[in-house]
Amino acid sequence: MTSGHYWLPVAEEVGGVRHAFRGRRWEGRSADEAVCGRTVPMAQPSEMDWITFKSCRDCRHSLLSEAGIQPEVVHADRSSKSSQ
Ligand SMILES: [Zn+2]
Repeated sequence: MTSGHYWLPVAEEVGGVRHAFRGRRWEGRSADEAVCGRTVPMAQPSEMDWITFKSCRDCRHSLLSEAGIQPEVVHADRSSKSSQ
């Protein structure tokens, strides 16, 4: 089983999203392709980025299905409140 991925917050114009990437960890690249297929710019995230950014749903679904888990089973998102 290959569990070679890591998460990194990626800032966007408004807020940001945590994407999953292939590999063991971020090694200072300026951009890379996330598990969801988007190529995004990478930068050293702040502690607040980790706290405030949500996980990319597409990345999460891809990793879950690779692990043999139905994404519908996992209800991690509760979008009752919209964040800032
Ligand atoms: Zn993603």
